[in-house]
Amino acid sequence: MPGFELFGDAERQSVNDVLDNGVLMRYGFDGMRKGHWKAKELESELQHTFNTNYVQMVSSGTAAVSVALASAGVGAGDEVIMPTFTFVASFEAIMMLGAIPVLVDIDDTLTLCPKAVEAAITSKTKAVMVVQMCGSMANMDALSAICDAHNLIFIEDACQAIGGTYKGKPLGSIADLGCFSFDFVKTITCGEGGAVITNNEAYYINADHYSDHGHDHIGNDRGAETHPFLGYNFRISELHAAVGLAQVKRLPEFLRIQRQNFDIIRNKLSEINEVEFRAVPEGGIESCAFLNFFLPDLETARKVIDTFGKHGIDACWNYYDNNWHYIRKWHHLKEAKSLYPLTNEIKNALDKLSNTDFSQSDHYIGRNISCLIKLSWTEAEVEARASKMVTLIKECLNS
Ligand SMILES: *Cc1c(COP(=O)(O)O)cnc(C)c1O
Repeated sequence: MPGFELFGDAERQSVNDVLDNGVLMRYGFDGMRKGHWKAKELESELQHTFNTNYVQMVSSGTAAVSVALASAGVGAGDEVIMPTFTFVASFEAIMMLGAIPVLVDIDDTLTLCPKAVEAAITSKTKAVMVVQMCGSMANMDALSAICDAHNLIFIEDACQAIGGTYKGKPLGSIADLGCFSFDFVKTITCGEGGAVITNNEAYYINADHYSDHGHDHIGNDRGAETHPFLGYNFRISELHAAVGLAQVKRLPEFLRIQRQNFDIIRNKLSEINEVEFRAVPEGGIESCAFLNFFLPDLETARKVIDTFGKHGIDACWNYYDNNWHYIRKWHHLKEAKSLYPLTNEIKNALDKLSNTDFSQSDHYIGRNISCLIKLSWTEAEVEARASKMVTLIKECLNS
Protein backbone atom coordinates (compact mmCIF):
# COMPACT_ATOMS: atom_id res chain seq x y z
CA MET A 1 0.00 0.00 0.00
CA PRO A 2 2.42 2.75 1.02
CA GLY A 3 3.12 5.31 -1.71
CA PHE A 4 6.23 6.40 0.17
CA GLU A 5 7.95 3.29 -1.11
CA LEU A 6 8.02 4.85 -4.55
CA PHE A 7 9.13 8.41 -4.00
CA GLY A 8 11.06 10.39 -6.52
CA ASP A 9 11.77 13.40 -8.67
CA ALA A 10 8.12 14.25 -9.33
CA GLU A 11 7.43 14.68 -5.61
CA ARG A 12 10.63 16.71 -5.11
CA GLN A 13 9.89 18.98 -8.08
CA SER A 14 6.37 19.63 -6.88
CA VAL A 15 7.54 20.62 -3.37
CA ASN A 16 10.25 22.82 -4.87
CA ASP A 17 7.60 24.72 -6.88
CA VAL A 18 6.06 25.72 -3.57
CA LEU A 19 9.36 26.52 -1.86
CA ASP A 20 10.46 28.63 -4.84
CA ASN A 21 7.54 31.03 -4.49
CA GLY A 22 7.30 30.77 -0.69
CA VAL A 23 3.51 30.55 -0.45
CA LEU A 24 2.98 27.63 1.90
CA MET A 25 -0.69 28.39 2.47
CA ARG A 26 -3.44 27.15 0.18
CA TYR A 27 -5.58 30.29 0.29
CA GLY A 28 -4.77 33.85 -0.78
CA PHE A 29 -1.42 35.45 -1.78
CA ASP A 30 -2.49 35.21 -5.43
CA GLY A 31 0.24 37.52 -6.71
CA MET A 32 3.16 35.70 -5.09
CA ARG A 33 2.25 32.17 -6.17
CA LYS A 34 3.39 32.24 -9.77
CA GLY A 35 0.37 30.15 -10.68
CA HIS A 36 0.97 27.36 -8.16
CA TRP A 37 -2.22 26.23 -6.41
CA LYS A 38 -1.24 22.76 -5.27
CA ALA A 39 -4.22 22.06 -3.00
CA LYS A 40 -6.67 23.30 -5.64
CA GLU A 41 -4.96 21.25 -8.35
CA LEU A 42 -5.01 18.18 -6.15
CA GLU A 43 -8.72 18.69 -5.53
CA SER A 44 -9.48 18.82 -9.24
CA GLU A 45 -7.24 15.80 -9.89
CA LEU A 46 -9.17 13.85 -7.23
CA GLN A 47 -12.51 14.92 -8.75
CA HIS A 48 -11.46 12.92 -11.83
CA THR A 49 -10.01 10.04 -9.81
CA PHE A 50 -13.25 9.59 -7.87
CA ASN A 51 -15.63 10.80 -10.58
CA THR A 52 -17.18 13.12 -8.01
CA ASN A 53 -18.45 16.70 -8.16
CA TYR A 54 -16.66 18.11 -5.13
CA VAL A 55 -13.43 17.49 -3.22
CA GLN A 56 -12.25 19.34 -0.11
CA MET A 57 -8.67 18.70 0.94
CA VAL A 58 -8.04 18.77 4.71
CA SER A 59 -5.16 18.16 7.11
CA SER A 60 -5.69 14.45 7.82
CA GLY A 61 -8.03 11.51 7.31
CA THR A 62 -9.30 11.94 10.86
CA ALA A 63 -10.07 15.59 10.08
CA ALA A 64 -11.82 14.44 6.88
CA VAL A 65 -14.18 12.24 8.91
CA SER A 66 -14.93 15.03 11.42
CA VAL A 67 -15.43 17.57 8.63
CA ALA A 68 -17.70 15.18 6.70
CA LEU A 69 -19.87 14.56 9.75
CA ALA A 70 -20.01 18.27 10.67
CA SER A 71 -20.84 19.22 7.07
CA ALA A 72 -23.85 16.94 7.16
CA GLY A 73 -24.97 18.45 10.48
CA VAL A 74 -23.96 15.62 12.82
CA GLY A 75 -23.23 16.89 16.33
CA ALA A 76 -23.95 16.77 20.04
CA GLY A 77 -26.08 13.84 21.12
CA ASP A 78 -26.40 12.30 17.65
CA GLU A 79 -25.61 8.59 17.41
CA VAL A 80 -23.26 7.49 14.65
CA ILE A 81 -23.08 3.77 13.89
CA MET A 82 -19.55 2.53 13.17
CA PRO A 83 -17.77 -0.86 13.01
CA THR A 84 -15.79 -2.65 15.75
CA PHE A 85 -12.93 -3.16 13.29
CA THR A 86 -11.49 0.10 11.97
CA PHE A 87 -8.86 2.61 13.08
CA VAL A 88 -9.27 4.64 16.30
CA ALA A 89 -9.77 7.71 14.08
CA SER A 90 -13.40 6.67 13.51
CA PHE A 91 -14.57 7.19 17.09
CA GLU A 92 -12.18 10.12 17.63
CA ALA A 93 -13.78 11.99 14.73
CA ILE A 94 -17.29 11.26 16.00
CA MET A 95 -16.57 12.24 19.61
CA MET A 96 -14.81 15.46 18.62
CA LEU A 97 -18.22 16.76 17.55
CA GLY A 98 -19.93 15.65 20.75
CA ALA A 99 -21.65 12.86 18.83
CA ILE A 100 -21.97 9.33 20.20
CA PRO A 101 -20.15 6.39 18.63
CA VAL A 102 -22.29 3.24 18.49
CA LEU A 103 -20.11 0.26 17.69
CA VAL A 104 -21.58 -2.70 15.85
CA ASP A 105 -20.35 -6.05 14.52
CA ILE A 106 -18.60 -6.71 11.26
CA ASP A 107 -19.28 -9.69 8.98
CA ASP A 108 -17.16 -11.84 6.65
CA THR A 109 -16.39 -8.76 4.51
CA LEU A 110 -14.48 -7.43 7.59
CA THR A 111 -16.70 -4.33 7.37
CA LEU A 112 -20.09 -3.26 8.77
CA CYS A 113 -22.66 -6.06 8.98
CA PRO A 114 -25.94 -4.64 7.58
CA LYS A 115 -28.06 -6.72 10.01
CA ALA A 116 -26.06 -5.38 12.97
CA VAL A 117 -26.51 -1.83 11.68
CA GLU A 118 -30.25 -2.24 11.40
CA ALA A 119 -30.46 -3.66 14.93
CA ALA A 120 -28.54 -0.67 16.35
CA ILE A 121 -30.79 2.07 14.95
CA THR A 122 -32.59 4.18 17.56
CA SER A 123 -34.48 7.47 17.45
CA LYS A 124 -31.14 9.21 18.09
CA THR A 125 -29.28 7.63 15.15
CA LYS A 126 -28.18 10.32 12.70
CA ALA A 127 -25.54 8.66 10.55
CA VAL A 128 -23.96 5.37 9.55
CA MET A 129 -20.22 5.29 8.95
CA VAL A 130 -18.95 2.42 6.86
CA VAL A 131 -15.18 1.82 6.92
CA GLN A 132 -13.83 0.09 3.81
CA MET A 133 -11.11 -1.75 5.72
CA CYS A 134 -7.97 -3.24 4.24
CA GLY A 135 -8.73 -2.49 0.61
CA SER A 136 -12.22 -3.94 0.36
CA MET A 137 -15.79 -2.99 1.12
CA ALA A 138 -19.13 -3.59 2.75
CA ASN A 139 -22.33 -4.57 1.01
CA MET A 140 -23.03 -0.98 -0.04
CA ASP A 141 -26.45 -1.63 -1.60
CA ALA A 142 -27.72 -3.13 1.65
CA LEU A 143 -26.30 -0.28 3.76
CA SER A 144 -27.58 2.41 1.36
CA ALA A 145 -31.06 0.88 1.52
CA ILE A 146 -30.99 0.93 5.33
CA CYS A 147 -29.85 4.57 5.37
CA ASP A 148 -32.56 5.54 2.86
CA ALA A 149 -35.28 3.72 4.75
CA HIS A 150 -34.35 5.39 8.05
CA ASN A 151 -33.36 8.76 6.59
CA LEU A 152 -29.78 8.49 7.87
CA ILE A 153 -26.65 10.21 6.59
CA PHE A 154 -24.28 7.69 5.05
CA ILE A 155 -20.53 8.34 5.48
CA GLU A 156 -17.88 6.24 3.74
CA ASP A 157 -14.37 6.07 5.19
CA ALA A 158 -12.29 4.81 2.27
CA CYS A 159 -8.92 5.74 3.77
CA GLN A 160 -7.59 2.20 3.24
CA ALA A 161 -9.32 1.45 -0.03
CA ILE A 162 -8.37 4.06 -2.60
CA GLY A 163 -8.69 2.48 -6.05
CA GLY A 164 -11.26 -0.16 -5.08
CA THR A 165 -14.66 -0.09 -6.81
CA TYR A 166 -18.23 -1.22 -6.15
CA LYS A 167 -20.52 -1.77 -9.15
CA GLY A 168 -18.24 0.43 -11.22
CA LYS A 169 -18.06 3.30 -8.71
CA PRO A 170 -14.86 4.26 -6.88
CA LEU A 171 -14.98 3.43 -3.18
CA GLY A 172 -15.48 6.65 -1.25
CA SER A 173 -17.90 8.00 -3.85
CA ILE A 174 -20.89 5.79 -3.07
CA ALA A 175 -22.25 7.19 0.20
CA ASP A 176 -23.37 10.80 0.83
CA LEU A 177 -19.83 11.79 1.79
CA GLY A 178 -16.52 9.94 1.39
CA CYS A 179 -13.31 10.35 3.38
CA PHE A 180 -9.71 9.66 2.43
CA SER A 181 -6.40 9.82 4.29
CA PHE A 182 -3.08 10.66 2.69
CA ASP A 183 -0.97 10.07 5.80
CA PHE A 184 2.48 8.56 5.47
CA VAL A 185 1.42 4.89 5.22
CA LYS A 186 -1.51 5.19 2.83
CA THR A 187 -1.44 4.25 -0.88
CA ILE A 188 -1.05 7.92 -1.80
CA THR A 189 0.72 10.13 0.73
CA CYS A 190 0.94 13.89 1.32
CA GLY A 191 3.01 13.30 4.49
CA GLU A 192 -0.19 14.26 6.32
CA GLY A 193 -3.46 15.02 4.59
CA GLY A 194 -7.01 13.96 3.85
CA ALA A 195 -9.98 14.64 1.61
CA VAL A 196 -13.75 14.83 1.84
CA ILE A 197 -15.60 14.02 -1.37
CA THR A 198 -19.29 14.45 -2.17
CA ASN A 199 -21.79 15.15 -4.93
CA ASN A 200 -23.86 17.27 -2.54
CA GLU A 201 -23.11 20.96 -3.11
CA ALA A 202 -24.40 22.10 0.29
CA TYR A 203 -22.21 19.56 2.12
CA TYR A 204 -19.23 20.66 0.03
CA ILE A 205 -19.73 24.35 0.81
CA ASN A 206 -20.04 23.46 4.49
CA ALA A 207 -16.80 21.42 4.31
CA ASP A 208 -14.99 24.25 2.49
CA HIS A 209 -15.96 26.84 5.11
CA TYR A 210 -15.83 24.63 8.21
CA SER A 211 -12.29 23.42 7.52
CA ASP A 212 -11.05 27.04 7.35
CA HIS A 213 -12.51 28.84 10.41
CA GLY A 214 -15.83 29.42 8.64
CA HIS A 215 -14.27 31.56 5.86
CA ASP A 216 -16.72 31.94 2.97
CA HIS A 217 -13.88 32.20 0.41
CA ILE A 218 -15.67 34.91 -1.56
CA GLY A 219 -13.55 37.65 -3.17
CA ASN A 220 -9.78 38.00 -2.88
CA ASP A 221 -9.35 39.76 0.46
CA ARG A 222 -9.17 37.08 3.13
CA GLY A 223 -9.50 39.57 5.97
CA ALA A 224 -12.75 40.94 4.55
CA GLU A 225 -14.40 37.54 4.11
CA THR A 226 -17.45 36.79 6.24
CA HIS A 227 -18.11 33.81 8.52
CA PRO A 228 -21.61 32.47 7.93
CA PHE A 229 -21.12 29.84 10.65
CA LEU A 230 -18.52 28.59 13.14
CA GLY A 231 -15.57 26.69 11.80
CA TYR A 232 -12.23 25.22 12.75
CA ASN A 233 -8.79 24.85 11.17
CA PHE A 234 -8.32 21.62 9.28
CA ARG A 235 -6.43 23.17 6.35
CA ILE A 236 -3.81 21.29 4.37
CA SER A 237 -0.62 23.19 3.58
CA GLU A 238 0.65 23.71 0.03
CA LEU A 239 3.78 21.67 0.85
CA HIS A 240 1.69 18.64 1.78
CA ALA A 241 -0.63 19.10 -1.18
CA ALA A 242 2.40 19.35 -3.48
CA VAL A 243 3.57 15.89 -2.43
CA GLY A 244 0.07 14.47 -2.86
CA LEU A 245 -0.33 16.02 -6.29
CA ALA A 246 2.79 14.29 -7.57
CA GLN A 247 1.76 11.03 -5.91
CA VAL A 248 -1.83 10.95 -7.16
CA LYS A 249 -0.66 11.18 -10.76
CA ARG A 250 1.04 7.85 -10.12
CA LEU A 251 -2.05 6.18 -8.66
CA PRO A 252 -2.77 4.02 -11.74
CA GLU A 253 0.84 2.77 -11.66
CA PHE A 254 0.64 2.04 -7.90
CA LEU A 255 -2.65 0.20 -8.27
CA ARG A 256 -1.33 -1.90 -11.16
CA ILE A 257 1.69 -3.03 -9.11
CA GLN A 258 -0.49 -3.65 -6.06
CA ARG A 259 -2.91 -5.86 -8.01
CA GLN A 260 -0.07 -7.81 -9.65
CA ASN A 261 1.55 -8.57 -6.28
CA PHE A 262 -1.81 -9.38 -4.67
CA ASP A 263 -2.74 -11.83 -7.44
CA ILE A 264 0.52 -13.74 -7.12
CA ILE A 265 0.08 -14.27 -3.38
CA ARG A 266 -3.66 -14.96 -3.58
CA ASN A 267 -3.26 -17.59 -6.31
CA LYS A 268 -0.57 -19.35 -4.35
CA LEU A 269 -2.54 -19.34 -1.07
CA SER A 270 -5.62 -20.70 -2.79
CA GLU A 271 -3.79 -24.06 -2.97
CA ILE A 272 -4.56 -24.48 0.74
CA ASN A 273 -8.06 -25.83 1.41
CA GLU A 274 -8.24 -24.39 4.92
CA VAL A 275 -7.56 -20.85 3.68
CA GLU A 276 -10.77 -18.93 3.06
CA PHE A 277 -10.52 -15.44 1.56
CA ARG A 278 -12.50 -12.51 2.91
CA ALA A 279 -15.91 -12.08 1.27
CA VAL A 280 -16.10 -9.35 -1.35
CA PRO A 281 -19.66 -8.17 -2.08
CA GLU A 282 -21.08 -8.86 -5.53
CA GLY A 283 -19.92 -6.16 -7.94
CA GLY A 284 -16.94 -5.25 -5.76
CA ILE A 285 -13.31 -5.05 -6.86
CA GLU A 286 -10.71 -4.77 -4.11
CA SER A 287 -7.99 -2.11 -4.21
CA CYS A 288 -5.51 -4.91 -3.35
CA ALA A 289 -3.78 -2.78 -0.69
CA PHE A 290 -4.05 -5.83 1.60
CA LEU A 291 -4.76 -9.52 1.18
CA ASN A 292 -7.07 -10.85 3.88
CA PHE A 293 -7.88 -14.47 4.58
CA PHE A 294 -9.38 -16.61 7.33
CA LEU A 295 -7.83 -19.66 8.99
CA PRO A 296 -9.87 -22.29 10.87
CA ASP A 297 -9.44 -20.72 14.33
CA LEU A 298 -7.72 -18.07 16.46
CA GLU A 299 -5.06 -20.49 17.68
CA THR A 300 -3.97 -21.33 14.12
CA ALA A 301 -4.01 -17.66 13.12
CA ARG A 302 -1.77 -16.77 16.07
CA LYS A 303 0.56 -19.65 15.26
CA VAL A 304 0.84 -18.56 11.63
CA ILE A 305 1.62 -14.93 12.55
CA ASP A 306 4.25 -16.12 15.01
CA THR A 307 5.83 -18.40 12.40
CA PHE A 308 5.69 -15.70 9.73
CA GLY A 309 7.58 -13.36 12.07
CA LYS A 310 10.27 -15.95 12.78
CA HIS A 311 10.75 -16.60 9.06
CA GLY A 312 10.92 -13.01 7.85
CA ILE A 313 7.38 -12.67 6.48
CA ASP A 314 6.74 -9.14 7.75
CA ALA A 315 3.71 -6.85 7.45
CA CYS A 316 1.09 -9.53 8.21
CA TRP A 317 -1.23 -9.15 11.20
CA ASN A 318 -3.94 -10.83 13.19
CA TYR A 319 -5.94 -7.91 14.61
CA TYR A 320 -7.53 -9.75 17.57
CA ASP A 321 -5.01 -8.30 20.03
CA ASN A 322 -4.19 -5.13 18.10
CA ASN A 323 -4.26 -1.86 20.06
CA TRP A 324 -5.31 0.43 17.22
CA HIS A 325 -7.73 -1.40 14.98
CA TYR A 326 -10.02 -3.59 17.03
CA ILE A 327 -12.36 -2.96 19.93
CA ARG A 328 -10.92 -5.62 22.29
CA LYS A 329 -7.89 -3.50 23.20
CA TRP A 330 -9.58 -0.09 23.14
CA HIS A 331 -9.52 0.20 26.92
CA HIS A 332 -9.09 3.97 26.74
CA LEU A 333 -12.38 4.16 24.86
CA LYS A 334 -14.31 1.66 26.99
CA GLU A 335 -13.12 3.38 30.17
CA ALA A 336 -13.71 6.88 28.72
CA LYS A 337 -10.17 8.00 29.58
CA SER A 338 -10.45 11.56 28.35
CA LEU A 339 -8.26 14.54 29.24
CA TYR A 340 -11.39 16.67 29.50
CA PRO A 341 -14.95 16.03 30.64
CA LEU A 342 -17.20 14.11 28.26
CA THR A 343 -20.98 14.46 28.17
CA ASN A 344 -22.99 11.93 30.16
CA GLU A 345 -24.56 10.69 26.94
CA ILE A 346 -21.14 9.77 25.56
CA LYS A 347 -19.95 8.27 28.87
CA ASN A 348 -23.06 6.09 29.13
CA ALA A 349 -22.61 4.87 25.56
CA LEU A 350 -18.94 4.02 26.14
CA ASP A 351 -19.74 2.31 29.40
CA LYS A 352 -21.98 -0.15 27.57
CA LEU A 353 -19.17 -1.28 25.26
CA SER A 354 -17.52 -3.49 27.90
CA ASN A 355 -20.66 -5.57 28.29
CA THR A 356 -21.79 -5.74 24.69
CA ASP A 357 -21.51 -9.06 22.92
CA PHE A 358 -19.18 -8.71 19.95
CA SER A 359 -18.63 -12.44 19.47
CA GLN A 360 -19.59 -12.15 15.80
CA SER A 361 -16.71 -9.70 15.27
CA ASP A 362 -14.36 -11.89 17.35
CA HIS A 363 -15.31 -14.84 15.15
CA TYR A 364 -14.00 -13.06 12.03
CA ILE A 365 -11.14 -10.98 13.45
CA GLY A 366 -9.77 -13.88 15.51
CA ARG A 367 -9.33 -16.08 12.43
CA ASN A 368 -8.26 -13.34 10.06
CA ILE A 369 -4.80 -12.64 8.71
CA SER A 370 -4.23 -9.35 6.96
CA CYS A 371 -1.15 -8.95 4.78
CA LEU A 372 0.03 -5.61 3.48
CA ILE A 373 0.77 -5.63 -0.25
CA LYS A 374 3.90 -3.60 -0.88
CA LEU A 375 4.74 -1.71 -4.04
CA SER A 376 8.51 -2.10 -3.82
CA TRP A 377 8.71 -5.91 -4.09
CA THR A 378 10.18 -7.38 -7.25
CA GLU A 379 8.22 -10.14 -8.95
CA ALA A 380 10.80 -12.70 -7.79
CA GLU A 381 10.45 -11.46 -4.21
CA VAL A 382 6.66 -11.79 -4.31
CA GLU A 383 6.89 -15.31 -5.76
CA ALA A 384 9.37 -16.37 -3.08
CA ARG A 385 7.27 -14.78 -0.36
CA ALA A 386 4.09 -16.49 -1.57
CA SER A 387 5.76 -19.93 -1.63
CA LYS A 388 7.20 -19.44 1.83
CA MET A 389 3.80 -18.37 3.17
CA VAL A 390 2.20 -21.52 1.78
CA THR A 391 4.85 -23.76 3.33
CA LEU A 392 4.59 -22.06 6.72
CA ILE A 393 0.77 -22.11 6.80
CA LYS A 394 0.75 -25.81 5.88
CA GLU A 395 3.24 -26.54 8.66
CA CYS A 396 1.03 -24.74 11.18
CA LEU A 397 -2.09 -26.57 9.99
CA ASN A 398 -0.38 -29.96 10.26
CA SER A 399 1.38 -29.48 13.59
C1 LIG B 1 -5.48 6.12 8.30
C2 LIG B 1 -6.92 6.02 8.60
C3 LIG B 1 -7.66 7.09 9.10
C4 LIG B 1 -7.05 8.36 9.60
O1 LIG B 1 -6.21 9.00 8.77
P1 LIG B 1 -5.09 10.01 9.34
O2 LIG B 1 -4.76 10.76 8.08
O3 LIG B 1 -3.95 9.21 9.85
O4 LIG B 1 -5.72 10.88 10.35
C5 LIG B 1 -9.02 6.95 9.25
N1 LIG B 1 -9.63 5.79 8.95
C6 LIG B 1 -8.96 4.72 8.48
C7 LIG B 1 -9.69 3.49 8.13
C8 LIG B 1 -7.58 4.79 8.32
O5 LIG B 1 -6.90 3.72 7.89
